[in-house]
This record gives sequence, C-alpha cells and structure tokens, in this order.
Amino acid sequence: MEQVVIIGTGCAGLTAAIYTARAGLAPLVLTGILPGGLLTTTSIVENFPGFPEGIDGYELMTRMQQQAEKFGAKVNFATVDSADLSGTPIRLVVDGEAIETRTLIVATGAGHRHLDVPGESELEKQGVTYCATCDGALPMFRNQPLVVVGGGDSACEEATYLTRFASKVYLVHRRDHLRASHIMADRTLANPKIEMVWDSVVTEVLDVKAGKVTGVRLRNLKTDATSELPCAGLFVAVGHVPNTALFKGVLDLDDHGYFQLGRGSSTRVPGVFVAGDCADQVYRQAITAAGMGCAAAIDAERYLAAHHS
Ligand code: NAP
Repeated sequence: MEQVVIIGTGCAGLTAAIYTARAGLAPLVLTGILPGGLLTTTSIVENFPGFPEGIDGYELMTRMQQQAEKFGAKVNFATVDSADLSGTPIRLVVDGEAIETRTLIVATGAGHRHLDVPGESELEKQGVTYCATCDGALPMFRNQPLVVVGGGDSACEEATYLTRFASKVYLVHRRDHLRASHIMADRTLANPKIEMVWDSVVTEVLDVKAGKVTGVRLRNLKTDATSELPCAGLFVAVGHVPNTALFKGVLDLDDHGYFQLGRGSSTRVPGVFVAGDCADQVYRQAITAAGMGCAAAIDAERYLAAHHS
C-alpha cells in the first residue's frame, strides 16, 4: 500500500514529490506520456525564481526530478488506465497493474489545444506541429516560410524561436493586439523576421493530397476576405486543454473541464488532492503550478497524519 501516489511530473507533480518525499512518505510518482510535462517542450524559462540567466525547460524539470528522487520519491514511467475513488484505499490500475494508495495527488497538467480545421489532423507531424522547440529544427522547416497561430506567450515564444531556422515567420492572430506579456509581445513585434497577420484565422491547412504542408488558407475576421499563405509548416499555439478526462464524473470539473477545488487543494473525495494546470485556468505559470504542488503535498501529509497515524 502506497502512502501517496502522484499523477504527473510537471512542476506541480514534482514539487509535490519533493515535499512528500522529504516528509518520509516515499511517494510513487507516475510520469504519464510526457515525463517532465509541457515545460520540457519549452526553450528558455526566464521567470522561474532563482535562475537570473534563465534555465532550459528540460533541465529545470530534470533537476526537479533529481531533487525528488534524492529524498526517496519513486518516479515510474507509467500511465494510469483507471482510478477507483469510491472507497478507501484508492485503487488505481497503472499500465495494467493494480495499485492501492491512501492519498492521491492529481497533477495531470494540460495538453495543446487544436484548431480543429480541415487538414490539421491529417498533416500532423507532416508539417503541423504544436511544439517549436521539439520540431523547429527539422530539415523540412529550414529556410522556409513558417506560420505560427496564437497571440499569447506561447505563440510569441514559438515565433521568436523559429526565426533561427525559418526564412520568415508569419504570426497569425485572431485579434489586433497580442495577449502575451509586454516583454514577450515587444520582443516579437520588434523581430524583423516576424510578420504579424492580424484579425485572421486559419480555416484550412494545405495540402492534404500532397501529404505535406504547403500553405494555409486564411480568413480576415474584419473584412471576411480569404487568402492563401504559402508555408512549409504550421505551429499551433492557441492555448491548452486540461488533462482531466480520467476523472470526469468522479471529481468536480468546471465548464472548461478544469478541476474545481474545495478548501486548499482538496476535492470532494477525501484523500484526493489536485495541483497545477489541470486546476488553473487563470495563472498557468511554472511557479504557480509548483506552489500548488507544494500545497497539495502539505494537504496530503496532514490528511495522513489525521487519518492514518
Ligand atoms: P493563452 O495565453 O491562453 O493564449 C492562447 C492564444 O491563442 C490567445 O491569443 C487566443 O486568442 C488564441 N486562441 C485560442 N483559441 C484559438 C483558436 N481556436 N483559434 C485561433 N486563436 C486561438 O495560451 P498560451 O500562450 O499557451 O499561454 C498559457 C499560459 O502559459 C499563460 O499564462 C502564459 O503566460 C504562460 N506562458 C508563459 C511563458 C513564459 O513566461 N515564458 C511562455 C509560454 C506560456 P485571444 O487572445 O483572442 O483569446
């Protein structure tokens, strides 16, 4: 029987792992399909306190995992098939194996939102991607015009990163000003290799018949004019959807699918706590996720002390 199982190894999950490990609870930490979470797909993280020069996202997450393991966390590359929260102990099936635990910290994070336009899914990995740092350096994108969609920090970060490889980057945004933070927006707008395409949406990715991205079809939302923009790649950065499907109907979710919390990190099921982007539609920062992970760990420790000491 485990004392604590943590689902997710992003900032929230690994911070919860550090705290519960230091408390002597030897947490079992399940990575899911993306060990280290979405931050491993980012380039430089400039706003995590303690790193004045910035730190590579992958390195930050690797260090967090090492810190957790140093205190006794058991990190397994595994995915949860199902969770039975109807009684005590909590029962999980993890890659086909049954696991029982007294407490559960859900830190499942969020995945990339898709545009849901024709050609997007057909051309995924053939020029459509959701991660510039993962794919931007691929030969098919080198010295080619590329399109990024979105107006937030992610889109600005991706567009800026892609200027290293692309002949030109078009940043397509559905409004006439960026949602991104000032520093990211200013940097993006000042970059001579980035051209803004305002008030526009991608309505189709071309060319499914050719089996690769040759361009995108655009619609200007103010004029309704349509056009085609030739490009070799489409980088979609239009936000995220929370990874909460496993708990639908069991834990409370809001209209957008994010976990709704009770007091602190608690849920309506005793012994089950939630942390990070899967429960945060507002801040969604590495440091806020880490803070939520810390809170969930403390809540789990206190629950165990009250019920199982
Ligand atoms: P976001 O802030 O939610 O921005 C999503 C962008 O996509 C918005 O500009 C939105 O347009 C647009 N959008 C949404 N759905 C769309 C659709 N169907 N078609 C076209 N455009 C669509 O998401 P994010 O940029 O991924 O950032 C998420 C969080 O991570 C934020 O809190 C951000 O600050 C943080 N982050 C921080 C850093 C950093 O500090 N280095 C880097 C990356 C992300 P509207 O503006 O019109 O809504």
